[in-house]
Order: sequence, then structure tokens, then C-alpha cells
Amino acid sequence: MPPVTSPSQDKYDYVIIGGGSGASGSGRRAAIYGKKVAVVEATGVLGGCCVKVGCIPKKIMWYAADMADKLRNASGYNYPPVQHTFDWETFKPRRDAYVKNLTDSYARNFGKDGVEYHDGWGRFKDEHTVEVTRHDGSTYELKADYICIATGSRPTMPSESKIPGAKLGINSDGFFEIEKQPKKMVVVGAGYIALELSGVLNALGTETHMIIRGDTVLRTFDPMIQDTITNWTEHTGVKIHRKTNVVKVEGTRVGEPVKVHLDSGDVIEADYLLWAIGREPVTEDCGLDKVGVKVDPKGNVIVDEWQATNVPNIFSIGDCQGKALLTPVAIAAGRRISNRLFGPAQFKDDKLSYENIPSVVFSHPPIGTVGLTEPEARKKFGDSVKTYNAKFKSMFFDFVDDDHKEPTVYKLIVHGPDEKVVGLHMVGAGSDEAIQGFSVAVKMGATKKNFDDTCAIHPTSTEEIVTMR
Ligand code: NDP
Repeated sequence: MPPVTSPSQDKYDYVIIGGGSGASGSGRRAAIYGKKVAVVEATGVLGGCCVKVGCIPKKIMWYAADMADKLRNASGYNYPPVQHTFDWETFKPRRDAYVKNLTDSYARNFGKDGVEYHDGWGRFKDEHTVEVTRHDGSTYELKADYICIATGSRPTMPSESKIPGAKLGINSDGFFEIEKQPKKMVVVGAGYIALELSGVLNALGTETHMIIRGDTVLRTFDPMIQDTITNWTEHTGVKIHRKTNVVKVEGTRVGEPVKVHLDSGDVIEADYLLWAIGREPVTEDCGLDKVGVKVDPKGNVIVDEWQATNVPNIFSIGDCQGKALLTPVAIAAGRRISNRLFGPAQFKDDKLSYENIPSVVFSHPPIGTVGLTEPEARKKFGDSVKTYNAKFKSMFFDFVDDDHKEPTVYKLIVHGPDEKVVGLHMVGAGSDEAIQGFSVAVKMGATKKNFDDTCAIHPTSTEEIVTMR
């Protein structure tokens, strides 16, 4: 469905600023309840960061990298040596086409459910009016009972004043524009994006340097995860420069080789420098000040447990409200707003709980985690916390070179006399898929006994989780 170019209603029930996954979840749910819904998206492409330059193209690249790992291990299973040069140049257009099909499907689904897509920049004029500025500069207004801010986030870039030459680096958006596989890459950051993209590059054969400020990657994760994945990532060939920061970047223009100067005095020459140092909300120039919607010092929209802002008819979901920057969270929160505002009475108290949100990092091997880390649990529950641990090599690696035997490590965190499970942290092959099911149990308040009472599935890695002693 192409975008509409003017309002079809004097007044909509619901207007959403931003056309990502959260907007789609919320808008389509409201439309299914028969409401008049308009979504305003500025980039000309629906789907948001996740589909365009995030989870989806990243996962495709992770599959390609995982394939490279498997090919490396194939000789252990008596396959003749396999030539595995990845053809980035021909793969990228196929990946882009896959992404385009998905973004197009957003427009198709809007059409099916009757959500109007408005192509332009959305800005509040007053608390019931959004002005749409089209790409030719013309404007029109959408009036609505309820409005949702779902404008998403963008990668953070360091300022030129702090790091001269910083703008010669790319960010995760730029990563997905790279046409030819880099020979050498510098990645700055220690979070999800830095680790995932470094893992992909390294597995596909790019010499990869990670610049991290601390001793480990993923410093907000359980210490077991931090240690296991930092050590193994280094073992696989990623060069991790610890307790270091970039002080200067030299080069001619983005996409040309760069010289990256570190505070240690080392200089790394590379094809690209990639900043992966967090994301920031896209909330400026949206007219939030005009209607008095409160934001925090970083620009994140401040919402309560109902995703409600301080202005009664205005809500916010997704990355721009700064909590749990994860696509399924935005979708779930958005659907619940629409259930509550427009759905049957049974949903009048519907809201998303931000407790026990499971998460996966697509590293090599992948990480799955739900609930509290051990330090968080000890801070909350003190001495009543107990952990159960398992560390082993998955059976698959029994036929693989010692050098390639990936670790599998699990930690179950329980507390109190009934040993309620308050955290589960997994690293190892299959953890990305397994954590979804375990997180249902954790969300339901399962105890260690419930885990013990569940029959193991043999032979699997995750059977260890229900047989821990
Ligand atoms: P994260 O918040 O995960 O990590 C940012 C990292 O940047 C931190 O590890 C921090 O490391 C480092 N950092 C911050 N400032 C600087 C600086 N000035 N110099 C050097 N390093 C710095 O952000 P990401 O950008 O990786 O990802 C953003 C969010 O997107 C994630 O938090 C996650 O919610 C979501 N995401 C989810 C994915 C998934 O579900 N698989 C995949 C990708 C993103 P430290 O403080 O340790 O030094």
C-alpha cells in the first residue's frame, strides 16, 4: 500500500509518530478493533531500525558467520576440507532484497488492517494535532484523540570536539551499507552491537579489533557471561584492546582507510572504524516541548508503567522511551496500549511488565539470559541467594579440534527457602533458542524443584539445566 498524501478523517482515534515495529504492533491492533489509525514515518520506509538496519540483517549475517564456523568444524565429522570463502559482494544484495521484502510487508499489512501510512516528518502542534511535513516541504495536520510517540533511536556518535576525526567512523547503520568485505576493522564498544558485529566479521575472515573501556565485554551482564564470552571471543581471533579508548582518527573520508589512535599510544590502521557505543532517542524536533511532554536529560520520553507520558492522551513506546531497547518489547507494549484504550473490557488494565524480559546476544557462541544477574540478586535478596552452575563442552565438539571446542556455561540463580528461580544465564550453542522456553518458567515463578521435576531431554546441552546439583 503506498502512503496516503492527506488526511482521510477529520479526526483519527489514534495517530502514531514513527513507523517501526512498535508502531505496527500498536497501530494494527487498534485498527483491528475498528479504530481509525494513522502512522507517520519520516524515512520513506516502514519497519524501523530492527528490520532495516538491526536485528534482521544482523541475524542474516550471524547465520552466514555461524555457517563459516560449522564449515571449519566439518572435517571433524570426516567431511573433506571445505573451501569457505564468504562472498560478501554477492550476498549483500540478496540480504538487502530480503530486508526490502520485509519492509514492504509492513505497508501490505497496514493496508490489510486499514492503518493509514503517512510519509513525512511528524511534529506535535498541540496535544491532539500532529503536523506532517512531506518531503517536498508541504504540510498537513492529523487530529487524534490519542497519540503515541514511537520515534525510535539512532546510534550514538562521539563528538568531534572529544575525538577529532570521529566522524570518519561508521556506525551500525553504515555497517549494513558495506559492499565489500573489509580486510581489517576496528570496532569501538563492548555492548550487544559491538560484540555481535565483531563476532560476525571475525568468523567471516576480517581481522577484527575491539576497543573496550573495561576489562570485559557486556559489563551489565552476569559476570559468568562477561568472562566466558570475552575470553572465547578473544580465543577465536578477535583482538580485544582492554581499558583503552580512541583519542583521534585520521583519514580522508568515510569508507576510506583510517588510522585509529588509542590512548595507549597504539595506532591501528583499518578499512573501517565502527562506533558501537550505544543508541540515543530520536525525540528532538518532534514538538514535544510544545505540548509539554517530559523527557529525561538524554532525551528519552518519560513514561509510567502504562507507557503514559505526563500529557494524558499521549503515550510512548520503543527505543525513544529508553527502557529495554528490544523490538518485541516495543511491540508488546504497543499492543497493550491499544488493547487497553480500544479493546474489550477484559483488557482495561493491560500493560507490559518489564520484569524478566529475556534477551539474546548473537555472539559466537550465543548468549541467552533472563532475570537478575548474580550481583543484582545478591543486592536484592542478600544471603538467601544460591547459584547452580554447569560448565562443559557440548557433545557436538567431541569430534572437533580442541582449538574449536566452544564452551557451554549455565548459571541458575535462586533465592529463599523454596529456591525460586530469579535468574538464568546461558552461553553456548543453542542458548539463543533455549532461553525462550526457560523464560516462560521464570516468568511463572518456577522454583528449583520445578526445574528438577522436569524430565531431562537426552542428549542435549540444556538437560544440564534441569539436573543441576
Ligand atoms: P549497549 O548499551 O549494549 O552497549 C554500549 C557499549 O558502549 C557499552 O558496552 C559501553 O561499554 C560502550 N561505550 C559507551 N560509551 C562509550 C565510549 N564513549 N567509548 C567507548 N565505549 C563506550 O549499546 P549497543 O549500541 O550495543 O546496543 C544498543 C541497544 O540495542 C542494546 O542495549 C540493546 O537493548 C539493543 N540491541 C539488542 C540486540 C539483541 O537483542 N540481540 C542486538 C543489538 C542491539 P562499557 O560501559 O562497558 O565501557
